[in-house]
Amino acid sequence: MSRSNRPALLGAALACVLAAGAQAAPPAATPADARIVRGIAAKPAFRAAVKALEQEHDAWVANIIALTEIPAPPFKEAARATAYAEMFRKAGLTDVEIDAEGNVLGLRKGTRPGGKLVVVSAHLDTVFPEGTPVKVRRDGERLYAPGVGDDSTGLATQLSLAKALDAAGIKTPDDILFVGTVGEEGLGDLRGVRHLFGTGKYKGRIRAFFSIDGTSDDGFTIGGVGSKRYRLTFSGPGGHSFGAFGLVNPLTALSQTVVDLYKIEVPKSPKTTYSASVVGGGTSVNAIPREVWLEVDMRSESAAELAKVERAFLAAVDRAVAGENAARSIAEAPVKVDVKLVGDRPAGATVADAEIVRLATAAYQSEGITPQMGSGSTDSNVAMSLGIPALTIPRAADGGRGHSVDEWIGIGKEGSLKIRKLDLLTILAVAGYR
Ligand SMILES: [Zn+2]
Repeated sequence: MSRSNRPALLGAALACVLAAGAQAAPPAATPADARIVRGIAAKPAFRAAVKALEQEHDAWVANIIALTEIPAPPFKEAARATAYAEMFRKAGLTDVEIDAEGNVLGLRKGTRPGGKLVVVSAHLDTVFPEGTPVKVRRDGERLYAPGVGDDSTGLATQLSLAKALDAAGIKTPDDILFVGTVGEEGLGDLRGVRHLFGTGKYKGRIRAFFSIDGTSDDGFTIGGVGSKRYRLTFSGPGGHSFGAFGLVNPLTALSQTVVDLYKIEVPKSPKTTYSASVVGGGTSVNAIPREVWLEVDMRSESAAELAKVERAFLAAVDRAVAGENAARSIAEAPVKVDVKLVGDRPAGATVADAEIVRLATAAYQSEGITPQMGSGSTDSNVAMSLGIPALTIPRAADGGRGHSVDEWIGIGKEGSLKIRKLDLLTILAVAGYR
């Protein structure tokens, strides 16, 4: 069954995931994949790790609360990063540092000399501005606070996995680099993970990437929805609405841009969308505006389709400006437009028969779950756009109201533990543990 059959559940489930799209039906994991996963699950060391996860359940809850209560607004993640680095040290990770971009890094060395590494990550930042109250309220098996799920729970889940590996003394062939990333949300534009792949000291060694983000009890994300966001400022000479009638008007060019944007045909699959979202400007009702502005958001599951809609949009802008300058007098000045790219997230997808997807599928199937696979916009987008196998895996089984002040996360032991176990099993399989 594809994700698209269950849109309501998916919408609630993947809080940080910005859009959901249909994916091909999951491939059956091969018998070899199933054997690998069964082999890991049967190992005494893995069972010891699961035992540690169980014993650490209360610490997991306490860490969610502690991390949530350290504010981490966009571009202001430093205090949470410092605390998280300390937690990494206590979890037995080595080479713990905060990199130049502000990401927290901690290594679990593998046994293969000069080997590649698998990144496991969760993001430090929230969408909430400075001053937002972040005190956590507990009500039964739920915690409430802005950012409590997205992604404080991801950070706590990541930490519990590192601790469980340490407690069980598990050594993987590949290194595992645990990362708390900055700038996942909004205008952060994935700056943390871009740094990791672009200039960080581990770049070039990363062969698989996990982002622990979103909540779901039956699936993970294999598609990265890309986006481009523009702010356009149209300007002209202005003038009296009566006396200067006949001069060019930047608002006409803006309006024509919106009309023409909505004539662009986009495919249903890969899902591609646009929105003229925010508008402003003008001087007074009896003046031709000197300046008006517009913000536009475009998204696609496919990098090629995103580029196509972006080209069509930019052509529509040029046409609208030229059309206005041809239609009315430019004696005082022509209409001009300043085009500013304010958001740029790469699109990409991990192919459904990639090893990382097959092994994750086998892990879920070993628990009797046929995994649902969706698309979203997370740190994994960057890895996917670079062709590096990536999955966004859940931080917990249930939660809701992400990006709102009444956000909550489910902390029920059985459900959340099952997710941490599935995450661990998947990561170990991908890191070459046998
Ligand atoms: Zn998130």
